[in-house]
Amino acid sequence: MNFSERIQRVEPSATLAISNLASQLEAEGKDVVDLSVGEPDFPTPDNIVDACETAMAEGHTGYAPSNGIPALREAVAEKLQGDGLDYEAENVVVTPGAKMALYEAVQSVVDDGDEVVLLDPAWVSYEAMVKLAGGDLNRVDLSPYDFQLEPALDDLADAVSDETELLVVNSPSNPTGAVYSDAALEGVRDLAVDHDVTVISDEIYERITYGVDPTSLATLDDMYERTITVNGFSKAYSMTGWRLGYFAAPEELVSQAAKLHSHSVSSAVNFVQHAGVEALQNTDDEVEQMVEAFEERRDRLVELLDDHGVDVATPDGAFYAMLPVADDDRQWCEDAIEQAQVATVPGSAFGAPGYARMSYANSVERIEEAVQRLDDEGLL
Ligand code: PMP
Ligand code: GLU
Repeated sequence: MNFSERIQRVEPSATLAISNLASQLEAEGKDVVDLSVGEPDFPTPDNIVDACETAMAEGHTGYAPSNGIPALREAVAEKLQGDGLDYEAENVVVTPGAKMALYEAVQSVVDDGDEVVLLDPAWVSYEAMVKLAGGDLNRVDLSPYDFQLEPALDDLADAVSDETELLVVNSPSNPTGAVYSDAALEGVRDLAVDHDVTVISDEIYERITYGVDPTSLATLDDMYERTITVNGFSKAYSMTGWRLGYFAAPEELVSQAAKLHSHSVSSAVNFVQHAGVEALQNTDDEVEQMVEAFEERRDRLVELLDDHGVDVATPDGAFYAMLPVADDDRQWCEDAIEQAQVATVPGSAFGAPGYARMSYANSVERIEEAVQRLDDEGLL
């Protein structure tokens, strides 16, 4: 077979590849501490599962309206309005996972040769999505600034120009856990307005923060009309396998992206969307409990690493920490999985060589076990 030049531009997802390797080693009987994939380890809350079962029993098993069932589009709009955003149900497209929302957004605005700015370290799939759309990447490195955006605004100003079509902002960030300050986001706004840039604000970790309240980019003056707000259910509600996410944007973008949506996925799964309404409306206590557990794990991980003389930038959100490792971070991650049976993701996959990403969506006991094993193997 001949493969398209387009598909050959990209590699498989590094996060999923390592997670698959960890599962394979486990199937071979190895006791792997899996700190690779970003996946909450809690079961989906019961009320959401029940709502899904009820929806199936009630017969919501056929095609759903392409952009989403009205009840969920309305529930999403209500949630976003509660966050100070001006979206109505017509501004919302429900997708099978936030990944598809991002894919549709990128496909809708990026043409061959268009410039897209990423803030490194950046989640692995942004690069692949941009390359599939034919865009050219321009990357701004936040690593010298403890992964914060505010001190890097001058660098960002150097990168953004009238040639820039799209900028991707992800706060709280995967893989760093950084939550960007209001001043940082205002800096993004000023550049986006000056250079007429569209911005994707990936807010999938917005509910998972520790003592800080992340600002939603489209709440800033002059940002509504140029922002595509992306969110999903995987992380906040521990619903990774349900594949449910959404984007909200001005209606002109919605009608463009909806064409790709209707010709590819048709819609997100009908009964899963009904469960999504329940998740948004009745799960606050469970989310709070999960976030408390993540915070305890974060604190323990940072403390343990500190005990071993390893200084990590304390993440304010999500469930990731960037561990400074050897220059050859891919080799380090290979050693960690082979020698210590601890799975992590090389920073290089996110544009941050010299680091490994640890997902602390795992029990305190397993996190302690991981640090102990890495220390025993001389990897800390
Ligand atoms: N954005 C970020 C930053 C992520 O970490 C993920 C992880 N899966 C996604 C989007 C996509 O999430 P999902 O497709 O599971 O909703
Ligand atoms: N986003 C998660 C991660 O970074 C899940 C895997 C993926 O979709 O990349 O590990």
